Amino acid sequence: MPKEPMNKPTFSGPNEALLRKMGGDTKHLLDPARGVYTNRDLNLQTISHIGFDMDYTLAIYKKLPMEQLQYDLTVERLINAHHYPESIRELQYDPSFIIRGLLVDKHTGHLIKINSHNQVWRASFGRRQVLIEDIQAHYQNEKIRLGDPRYASLDTLFAMPEACLFANLVDFFQDRLLRGSNLKPLQITKSDSPCQAVGFDTEKLFNDVRESIDAIHRDGSLKAIITADITTYIEDDPDLPLMLHKFRSSGKKLFLMTNSYWAYTREVMKYLLDNKLQAYPDWQSYFDTVIVGSKKPAFFSDRRPFLQLDTTAPGDGTPLEETVTQLERGQIYQGGNIRDFEDMTGIQGTEVLYVGDHIYGDILRSKKDSLWRTCLIVEELEQEIHGVLRWAFDVEKLSALDSERQETDSAIGRHRALLARMENLSTNPDFNQKGSTALTQEETEELAKTIKNFNFEIDHAKRYLKYLDRMLATHTDELERRFNPYWGRLLKEHNELSRFGAQVAWYACTYTSRASNFLRFSPVHRFKATRDTMNHDAFLSETLSMRQVRQSSGTIPPLM
Ligand code: IMP
Ligand code: MG
Repeated sequence: MPKEPMNKPTFSGPNEALLRKMGGDTKHLLDPARGVYTNRDLNLQTISHIGFDMDYTLAIYKKLPMEQLQYDLTVERLINAHHYPESIRELQYDPSFIIRGLLVDKHTGHLIKINSHNQVWRASFGRRQVLIEDIQAHYQNEKIRLGDPRYASLDTLFAMPEACLFANLVDFFQDRLLRGSNLKPLQITKSDSPCQAVGFDTEKLFNDVRESIDAIHRDGSLKAIITADITTYIEDDPDLPLMLHKFRSSGKKLFLMTNSYWAYTREVMKYLLDNKLQAYPDWQSYFDTVIVGSKKPAFFSDRRPFLQLDTTAPGDGTPLEETVTQLERGQIYQGGNIRDFEDMTGIQGTEVLYVGDHIYGDILRSKKDSLWRTCLIVEELEQEIHGVLRWAFDVEKLSALDSERQETDSAIGRHRALLARMENLSTNPDFNQKGSTALTQEETEELAKTIKNFNFEIDHAKRYLKYLDRMLATHTDELERRFNPYWGRLLKEHNELSRFGAQVAWYACTYTSRASNFLRFSPVHRFKATRDTMNHDAFLSETLSMRQVRQSSGTIPPLM
């Protein structure tokens, strides 16, 4: 124990004018939205290898152009390959409509948001919000099983356009259904279709949209447009080369591991890192190992071989015949698996930090199948944190209401128990009287008075609880709508975590809005998780602090 108590440090920092003179994007260095947050302690000193995913991790796509492009190409493919009506071209993309973590219910056509207990809280049919009574009618007796093929999960930002398009098309065909128009190609053909109640085949609709999105990613059409005009689609993050350099110069080995194939990876990485820092002649020189087409999550569970690519061949390179026994700097590998990677690099899984944006492919699988430590990129965190800061007063007010509800509810419980004892005593005077004398007349009157008061107080508290519930429901809804008018907050749902929020909390050791945020930290930084708390901890700390207040005013004796 230190002998002398220390004062809490304060920071002064440069003033606005100086900050402006420094040039560059210095302001974000002080922005809490650019922090790295910790669920599980991570000591960078013990990390020898840091791996990076490319898409939506090192490469930050510009939201609207990228999503609009995917949306438009998918619409064209639906028309040309799946024979959807040409008039679907008129349906507009809305970038604010979808958030990560939603599920598509292919049987009902709903988009749903669930909490960490897989309970449905919000739903839309097309773009229309589903009323809570209808949500209950559909899902009250339904345990949502995430592995069920009935549900598709929107895990990455790549999935935003497909979900919006799906919702637009649900509206489009619902309108046709109501008008009695042609439902082709979504007419229901089988009597046992799970979509009978909807009236058109929402399962086929989702599968067609999925196939189309998949096709534009695989056939090169999407990537050809992006690489021809890369500045329109991908951000240039000036901190990215500096962050990589900081890690490299502290002796860490860096690797790139992406599911994208060679030709696209080369173009994107050239844009991000070529000609940025003098010490690095090209993007490849930042990395000790480059793995493309890694097929995550299979990389973590299967035993696909590493293939060395002849990158002088056109397109995605040609795999060389020889078996790969060593991963060499300057070479490009395709495929591979975690066991061979660890064997060839001679490292333990606990020495690796992998940074990626895909909760399933990059984070959950690596956590379940390996010892790698992880950092999840949640680009939306910046908006979420700025929202909390902007509406801090309302967020605080809600927390205070919530604590008050907890306190009132548990006080009612405690007083009810005491009331039951008093009622027993009053109706059965012999009850509990062993060894003690019977009640005097005065005590009997006092007991009757206390029971009456208790009943009155408990009734009042119950009405107050209902009032708090109504206040909480209204304020929660109003606040959440400010984050997203349809779906509320990304990581929360009412006073619980959303499914996505829970996945972030359970699976990612750390999370941050962009990879370059690591630039703020020393390469030996210890990321410490906040102490785990359970619900009763919060309740007790509230009760203890109230006790202290009452103790200081002399209304209750000190705790023993
Ligand atoms: P990573 O995030 O760097 O591992 O790579 C993501 C890759 O997956 C990119 O090349 C995307 O084009 C590709 N991708 C994303 N969504 C889909 C899809 O639905 N089907 C096929 N490829 C996809
Ligand atoms: Mg990615």
